[in-house]
Amino acid sequence: MKIPLNKLYFTGQEMDYMRDCLERNHIDGDGYYTRLVQDFMRDKFAVQEVFLTASGTSALEMAALLAGLGEGDEVIMPSFTFVSTANAVMLRGARPVFAEIDAATFNLDPNDIEARITSHTKAIIPVHYGGTACDMENLMDIARKHNLLVIEDAAQGVNAAYNGRFLGTIGHMGCYSFHGTKNYTCGEGGALLLNNADQELLQKAYCVWNKGTNRREFLLGQVDKYTWREAGSSYAPADLLAAYLYAQLQDLDKISSLRGEVYKYYAENLMVYQEQGIIQMPVTAPVWKPNYHIFYITFNNAKDRGLVMKHLRADGIEASFHYIPLHSSPMGRKLGYKASDLPVTEEMAGRILRLPVYPAMSRDEQDTVLDSLRKALAGIDG
Ligand SMILES: *Cc1c(COP(=O)(O)O)cnc(C)c1O
Repeated sequence: MKIPLNKLYFTGQEMDYMRDCLERNHIDGDGYYTRLVQDFMRDKFAVQEVFLTASGTSALEMAALLAGLGEGDEVIMPSFTFVSTANAVMLRGARPVFAEIDAATFNLDPNDIEARITSHTKAIIPVHYGGTACDMENLMDIARKHNLLVIEDAAQGVNAAYNGRFLGTIGHMGCYSFHGTKNYTCGEGGALLLNNADQELLQKAYCVWNKGTNRREFLLGQVDKYTWREAGSSYAPADLLAAYLYAQLQDLDKISSLRGEVYKYYAENLMVYQEQGIIQMPVTAPVWKPNYHIFYITFNNAKDRGLVMKHLRADGIEASFHYIPLHSSPMGRKLGYKASDLPVTEEMAGRILRLPVYPAMSRDEQDTVLDSLRKALAGIDG
């Protein structure tokens, strides 16, 4: 039995909404379904404003633009993240400053932020790994104290919450991804969320999203034609994709609870290995409402991780790991970092292993993963 890391979930409404979108004779951006999706997210996540974007990457890029980042500015972020977090900053001519992660959550360690703040620091980008929130309380305190913007990379955190607030709605801006590998998808898609933005920033966001024009005022009947106002871009996805996404969002909670079933079954069955000190599982706490995006186990060393991954893969199970830390990548080295600059990140990146999780995963498929894993773990000492 071949078991992929991820498998698409269909609610059954995707084709109906896409057909309806075609029949409405409007498949380009900012159409009927784009509005429905934006309204849905604004209500569901209780946030000021939502802009649907062509990807999580473009949401981050739009956030970096709105943050006014430029040459000489610095932005603190974890090195343990997807490249887009850092690219968004680099593309504005600013510098990513990498900080350590907390070994228990793989999230930005708030204790490693203040030492990295300089007079050039403009923002912090926490990444909510696997949909488990960063310590946002501490992080927001630090940001307030130093007057820094917080842009949440909540690409993996859609429909997860921290202390009763949805991820992506706690900082000044939040970025979601609807990439094919994420919990809720439309192939390629994303969203930028604004939280408590002042009128100036809000108007700038409408303008930037509309290719740098006041098209929104035109659509609202406030002006009789729209014109170029500032540098913007084409961030909106085709309405056809929004239609697909709208179907997925209808089943928002069902999808996380199906993933949760898979997650809990793994956790129950692997507890014995955690008790023997062979692996660690993700930590949980009442402050976190999870979305079960990633199930990972952590080994005591990289060698064990490598052996187990090889074993699972030989059995047709697509266990995998990420990320190669950004600071020790070829680009990170060009920026002047060396691997030893962030020892916790370097170490933990070598020890993590992700197991397949998808909403429609059967017990049979899970048992296949667990059987293969048990065989592999039998060869490892605690
Ligand atoms: C997926 C992801 C992104 C990028 O999202 P895309 O929609 O693929 O562009 C950014 N950051 C993190 C942490 C991600 O997991």
